[in-house]
Amino acid sequence: ALKAGIVGLPNVGKSTLFNAITQAGAEMANYPFCTIDPNVGVVEVPDERLQRLVEIVTPHKTVPTAFEFIDIAGIVKGASKGEGLGNKFLQHIREVDAIVHVVRCFQDDNITHVSGKVDPLGDIETINLELILADLDQLEKKIERSRKNLKGGDKKVVAEVECLERIKEALYADKPARSLELSDDEKLIVRDLHLLTMKPVLYAANVSEDEVANSDDNPFVKIVRDFASAEGAEVIPISAKVESEIAELDGDDKAMFLEELGLKESGLNRLIKAAYRELGLYTYFTAGVQEVRAWTIHKGTKAPQAAGVIHTDFERGFIRAEVVSYEALSTNGSMAAAKEKGLVRLEGKEYLVQDGDVMHFRFNV
Ligand code: GDP
Repeated sequence: ALKAGIVGLPNVGKSTLFNAITQAGAEMANYPFCTIDPNVGVVEVPDERLQRLVEIVTPHKTVPTAFEFIDIAGIVKGASKGEGLGNKFLQHIREVDAIVHVVRCFQDDNITHVSGKVDPLGDIETINLELILADLDQLEKKIERSRKNLKGGDKKVVAEVECLERIKEALYADKPARSLELSDDEKLIVRDLHLLTMKPVLYAANVSEDEVANSDDNPFVKIVRDFASAEGAEVIPISAKVESEIAELDGDDKAMFLEELGLKESGLNRLIKAAYRELGLYTYFTAGVQEVRAWTIHKGTKAPQAAGVIHTDFERGFIRAEVVSYEALSTNGSMAAAKEKGLVRLEGKEYLVQDGDVMHFRFNV
């Protein structure tokens, strides 16, 4: 499953949010490939289409696709230099696909703020600086190693050093690595460095429970929005406290509580959907009588690799896929009806799987 790491200064509401995530957690038996670790929360990705597929197919079992959140505590000023939990937490962030940066936007005099006052911009900059410093450290080591190979005059090494220097310059100017336009070759050069500032970021603006319906009236949220939009990043206003209350409710109670608060869906769901958008992810479905199930792939994944998400044997022995779009299946109400109209296609190895495709793979064992 793809993972997002939760970062933020102390006392901004990370643990409250993370506890809500683990409370809301998925039935782990369905996700044997997910990490079992107290710092990892596995959640099911909300998708309205699954319910409709269940109506159409009436399967024995329904399994949404999953997403992991990792609690990355201990980031403080000086972390990149080993303060607080120091470099250990940075190692955890290297493994994630996206970062959820929790920013305190709630006022509460009983809860101390590390810098004495609520200051979202200052908080964001503190964390971002630590991430930049950690990346610089990584880059400088790599540049040093690459320079040793420069003597041969190999064009590839020259290009590599140039690319690394360019990123270094950006970091020195307080710009995250993701702000640079990189060619495919350059992306390959930096991929193994797992730079923290290369990862997409979502800002979770933690507002108090009575502000959650009108979070944009909170001036701190506006500050976070201005900062994020300059970076092209998304802001999800959320109340960690409300999320922890929502997580304890189910079904109708949850819906009623959300309505009372004036919300359409939980902050956690909005966060998961935003992470999906940010990471360029698609969902495709398998829909048999045994099981209707959602699977996560990256945009641009071809049919055999999409099959490989289910099982490596499916990828290895891939022959063809039978594909119908969710819309076509939903509108026609049954697989047979969709087939009759010629809406079920046979696709081969080069087929780019689309969001919402309902797929049936044929493969050799
Ligand atoms: P962390 O250090 O970032 O993990 O922060 P915690 O989740 O432990 O939260 C710090 C304190 O802030 C706790 O006492 C929480 O109950 C409180 N807190 C978190 N979110 C909110 C909120 O939305 N409103 C209020 N009033 N308090 C909150």
